[in-house]
Amino acid sequence: MDRRTSSEDCKSRLLALREALAAQLAAVGEGAPSDVDPTRAGRLTRLDELHHQAMGAESARRRRHELARVQAALRRLEEGEYGECAACGEPIAPARLQVDPAAEWCIRCATRAEQQRR
Ligand SMILES: [Zn+2]
Repeated sequence: MDRRTSSEDCKSRLLALREALAAQLAAVGEGAPSDVDPTRAGRLTRLDELHHQAMGAESARRRRHELARVQAALRRLEEGEYGECAACGEPIAPARLQVDPAAEWCIRCATRAEQQRR
């Protein structure tokens, strides 16, 4: 890949990403959240089952989050704001966008947010 990150490039990657995520979400049936209270589960098999459910819900939740990021990136692309940090407005490094075309923050803001979360 060349050093320039053309928006057409990013767009096709984002569209492919969106399609893949939508297909994965459809495959897990949208991961409807269960209303079972894990603290009330007594037996191990039940716990196992809940564990699997939780894992499924967790990965579905993560995919939905990812899908939202991709859609937000596509919207920014439409509005000509793609590649600008949503937090500080500085351009996001093309190398970063190549790794994560849906990145909405520059590396500095992303790192800071990451540190605050800990
Ligand atoms: Zn920033």
